[in-house]
Amino acid sequence: MPVGTAFDLHTHSTVSDGTEPPAQVVRQAAAQGLGGLALTDHDSTAGWPDATAAARETGTALIPGIELSTRLGWRSVHVLGYLVAPDDAALVAETDRIRESRLTRARRIVDSIAQDHPITWEDVVAQTGEGATVGRPHIADALVALGIEPDRSAAFAGTLHPRRGHVEPHYAPAPVDGVRLIRAAGGVPVLAHPGATRAEWVLPEEEVALLIDAGLFAMEADHPENTRDGGVLAHEMAARLGVPVTGSSDYHGSGKPNRLGQRTTAPAVVDALLEQATGWRPVLP
Ligand code: AMP
Ligand code: FE
Ligand code: FE
Ligand code: ZN
Repeated sequence: MPVGTAFDLHTHSTVSDGTEPPAQVVRQAAAQGLGGLALTDHDSTAGWPDATAAARETGTALIPGIELSTRLGWRSVHVLGYLVAPDDAALVAETDRIRESRLTRARRIVDSIAQDHPITWEDVVAQTGEGATVGRPHIADALVALGIEPDRSAAFAGTLHPRRGHVEPHYAPAPVDGVRLIRAAGGVPVLAHPGATRAEWVLPEEEVALLIDAGLFAMEADHPENTRDGGVLAHEMAARLGVPVTGSSDYHGSGKPNRLGQRTTAPAVVDALLEQATGWRPVLP
């Protein structure tokens, strides 16, 4: 049955680096009258049960998903995976490995910052939900709590900027392997925020074409963090390559200025996505 409503296909909760628990993100979507949403925490499906319960309770349409961290050379590339089988052995092994590497990396970043500022690993743990996928946002929150930075965004532009020399990458598979992993788990892969960077850094078209060959469904060309030329380029690329465009807010609660429902995906594209999914079921009222 067609969904008949627009979806915000990219949101985060305290299971990764959002500031609200999964159920609260869903309840907020319901209160706003948003037709439907996807919960896509970084490298984790742990928020699905609570989000699902809240979706049933509020009669909100929910597409459980994940935002998989991948890397191509110096580029961090995020791949959204909708309706994957959450117990798929290969997916679980890979996301476990990424989260583990994120943890050791975060500890090293904190050790490095601690040479300049009085910050400890415990300060970061205090900002991180239990079992959450840890990342720079949690270190940013610790810097804010300690009065070293005024807010999360300032911390990213300051202490946590790669130029400051504290940040290093974590383990991540190649994007093409991420796309295959999501498909093999019955999910539908979408390239996250391809236009949210300066045009010269946008993932090259030939690389996106390889991802499409591997099973990529669509490009999230409509994103609040698109740069002017990056966003245009991402839309043009999707048109040339003949893949659908999705729109999402990439909501992180109060951790980012992005507002829930700020961008949405057309119902026809959501329908096409749902038709391809075999790993899990959406909650449809
Ligand atoms: P990491 O994955 O650890 O390198 O951290 C990058 C993540 O920080 C991205 O997924 C962003 O979504 C997230 N993030 C959260 N809040 C902010 C912010 N205020 N500015 C920049 N990035 C942010
Ligand atoms: Fe994030
Ligand atoms: Fe992302
Ligand atoms: Zn995201």
